[in-house]
Amino acid sequence: MNLYPVFLDLKDRAVLVVGGGEVAERKAEMLLSAGARLSIGAPDLTPVLTAWRDEGRIRHLDGSFAADWLDDAWLVIAATDDGELNQRIATLGEARRIWVNVVDNAGLSGFQVPAVIDRSPVQIAISSAGIAPMLARRLREQIETLFDHSLGALARLLQRHRNAIRQAYPQLGPRRTFYSWLLDSPIASLVRQSRPEEAEAALQQALAEPDAFAPKGKVSLVGAGPGDPGLLTLKALRALNEADVILYDRLVSTDILAMARRDAHRVDVGKHPGENHRQTQLHIHEQMIEYAQQGLHVVRLKGGDAFIFGRGGEELQHLRAHDIPYCVIPGITAALACAAYSGIPLTHREHAQSVHLITAHTKGSTAEPDWAALSRSSQTLVFYMGVSQLDLIRSRLQDHGYDATTPCALIEHGSMPHQRTLIGTLDTMPVLARQHTIVAPALLIVGDVAQLGEELHWYGQLLDSTATPAARPPEQA
Ligand code: SAH
Repeated sequence: MNLYPVFLDLKDRAVLVVGGGEVAERKAEMLLSAGARLSIGAPDLTPVLTAWRDEGRIRHLDGSFAADWLDDAWLVIAATDDGELNQRIATLGEARRIWVNVVDNAGLSGFQVPAVIDRSPVQIAISSAGIAPMLARRLREQIETLFDHSLGALARLLQRHRNAIRQAYPQLGPRRTFYSWLLDSPIASLVRQSRPEEAEAALQQALAEPDAFAPKGKVSLVGAGPGDPGLLTLKALRALNEADVILYDRLVSTDILAMARRDAHRVDVGKHPGENHRQTQLHIHEQMIEYAQQGLHVVRLKGGDAFIFGRGGEELQHLRAHDIPYCVIPGITAALACAAYSGIPLTHREHAQSVHLITAHTKGSTAEPDWAALSRSSQTLVFYMGVSQLDLIRSRLQDHGYDATTPCALIEHGSMPHQRTLIGTLDTMPVLARQHTIVAPALLIVGDVAQLGEELHWYGQLLDSTATPAARPPEQA
């Protein structure tokens, strides 16, 4: 072992930072949050350090370093840009058996400050013994994504009930089993869902009736975003890591599925062309309930966001009716992703003050969008599932006062490496889409903002809106 890891209790202990620049400021911030009684020795202070001095949060030792600054210090950080001075502080500290850290100089340092993932009271500290701080920082970033910020609240809950748990389970073995159940239990979910009173009550109940707690399944309704795995939320990633079963839709990319826990059972429940969608949806409901009732953690994974044309509401109503606990993790919906990845701002002070998300899919239903309501100016219309409806959308909008020259953009496979963007007008879009054989999934943006894509595009291929390759009929959305 290169170094011996410890966590220091610095509350009300004198700590000295030598140096008054930005590095000193960063060190001071952490030391203050650990409750240290902090002195900063330097001729000049940054504005932030000056403010802290004026507020009485730190003591300022003004001027150049003097050996007696070390007198009552338990710990010293040398954060000056003067190598000789840093060396002197290290030597003086060593002679007095004070722990000294010289910033960015492992050789001179008696201790290292680790990279920290803070979910107080839980902390994870990483050290590379000062040899590769960049590597430690990178590891920190990765580990940071693994733990929800509610971890601290969970630890505090356990701390409050530690004695009661010990009494209910005096033997170490059963106590361990209880803890390990608890960490994956509905109680932990309640803490994550910011429902502390219910978590408290559930824990008390579990302690009062030790036999009553049985593993209970749950469903996480997770939005997988539009395709780019980088657009998954941290919570979605964690759910994928914890899942026992993943029921996924057709739009979920294989890259995203590949990020899930290796031994999770993956089930393709996507609706495929030609199938009876109502039947398929009912079967999805049944499977969610079945797996959850076996005590498993089911992740119901949907493209984009589950509450935007994703039937997420229906699925939750079904879960509620069967008393299955659930949570919802939002995803980046296609409208936001396609707009971002094509450089088309959905609102713009000069062009659009509101946005409509509309489904153009009318198959099996006579319902059409309320075209009259869409005909006001200064708004952006975003059509989902519209590839096969371009002619209908064009003629309906023109019937309702839209100009044939209204800018439009069609974004195919948004946020994926093979994204293609086509920018035209209401009038030209159906023909252009056929010429370029645009297929689903694709999203149509109608409104003046669409024009900005010509200027602001940055991702994927911007198609030539004048080219006329041999026209082919569009595929079904
Ligand atoms: N719940 C999803 C939408 C499901 S409806 C969401 O929030 O995004 C399916 C429609 O979404 C597709 O027909 C298409 O119009 C749009 N869509 C989904 N992913 C897309 C993508 N990567 N690029 C373009 N359009 C997409």
